[in-house]
Amino acid sequence: MTVNSIFAETILLSDGWAKNVTLSWDQNGVITSIDKETSKVSKSTAAGPVIPAMHNLHSHAFQRAMAGLSERREKGKESFWSWREIMYSFLARITAEDVQAIAAQLYLECLKYGYASVGEFHYLHHAIGGKHYDNLAEHSHQIVNAAKSTGIALTHLPVLYAYAGFDENDLAPAQARFKTDPEMIMKIIMETEKAATQEEYRYNTHVGVAPHSLRAVSTSMLKDMQNMLHQHNPNAPIHIHIAEQMKEVNDCISSKGKRPVELLYDQLPVDERWCLIHATHLTDQEVTHIARSKAVAGICPTTEGNLGDGIYPMVDFLEQDGRYGVGSDSHVSRSPVEEIRLLEYGQRLIHQARTVCADENTASVGRKLWCESAQGGAQALALNSGELAVGKRADFLVLNDQKPDLYELESDTILDAFIFNGNENLVRDTFVAGRQLIKNGQHASEEKITQNFLRTLKKLKSN
Ligand SMILES: [Zn+2]
Repeated sequence: MTVNSIFAETILLSDGWAKNVTLSWDQNGVITSIDKETSKVSKSTAAGPVIPAMHNLHSHAFQRAMAGLSERREKGKESFWSWREIMYSFLARITAEDVQAIAAQLYLECLKYGYASVGEFHYLHHAIGGKHYDNLAEHSHQIVNAAKSTGIALTHLPVLYAYAGFDENDLAPAQARFKTDPEMIMKIIMETEKAATQEEYRYNTHVGVAPHSLRAVSTSMLKDMQNMLHQHNPNAPIHIHIAEQMKEVNDCISSKGKRPVELLYDQLPVDERWCLIHATHLTDQEVTHIARSKAVAGICPTTEGNLGDGIYPMVDFLEQDGRYGVGSDSHVSRSPVEEIRLLEYGQRLIHQARTVCADENTASVGRKLWCESAQGGAQALALNSGELAVGKRADFLVLNDQKPDLYELESDTILDAFIFNGNENLVRDTFVAGRQLIKNGQHASEEKITQNFLRTLKKLKSN
């Protein structure tokens, strides 16, 4: 049954750009009909070009509160590992209420910049000092509450974190708040699902699991986790940090005699339910493993740049039809435009060429990277979304083509200019499962959410 519809003069559908389209959806936010060459019959008219929304496949929400605060050289050469120390000391002060306040602000910003959903790779499970809450899913509930308060679609991924290194080393005191085992993660999953299935929000929350990395989880534990998860829900996604830093790759070789991606594919049946985050350091063979398995490569260009990780081997991967999506990860940027722009620019700088990610089928870099990232992101988050077609969720954006950066543009040039022109946010409206959450750049609960976030920042600063 159709409950709502919108008329769009210009819209990017799964089969290409179309004119004068009425898009309709049912009470679950699933598209029921797409009528082309219609005249304006819908009550509501899109005030600009309509494109599929982006899906943010990798987030550590609490890091939003420390974005921009670790950009100083203090101890000689700074690295990912010295940044991690700063992050741990920040994290040691965060309470469950803080998690909710920070995540709500982040999710609000994500919606404003064009993300319809977020994959929350959530590893802060226990209270300050590492004591367990009575309800192991206390922090996960706060994440669900934050998502509810903004309306963003959430794929919650509680993190399995057991060891401090490839040799199953004990966790450091700073990691006590992360410590979990597969049974605990299943309890968190069940509790989170219970919280998420209340009221209308049940269509907007999915749950999977995130074994933190091969540093933090043994392959036998990973197999147990995968079996338990897929007995519970055969379609649930699995995300893992895989090869972010060369030190990680070298430690894996020293301990296991194999590189991380090689080890993972050797030990487990990786398929399209998997998302490999920061698969940055790969051999040719590992690129082929990932592409053939149909797993999604989760690329986070602004964070990978910020942390000095390295650049994803995108050209080889695209040649093998690899699937990918983007994530804001540490949230130094909350804009998918910036992730995709940097993804392409990294390749241009390496290859000393232009329009590197385009190909003979899709000449527009903007169109190719936006659409494929949206589809890959939806796959990674187990969402029936990523493109505008009957049967898919109505997750879409209305762009502001009255701004100089988009004025009087047509078809693919709209996406090219959206991504590669200027710094203004050109997202006017954001719809998630047919619900309009951002209207003319604003969210209905924005003031309350932001005031709460500012109070939290003040408190964290004074601690
Ligand atoms: Zn991460």
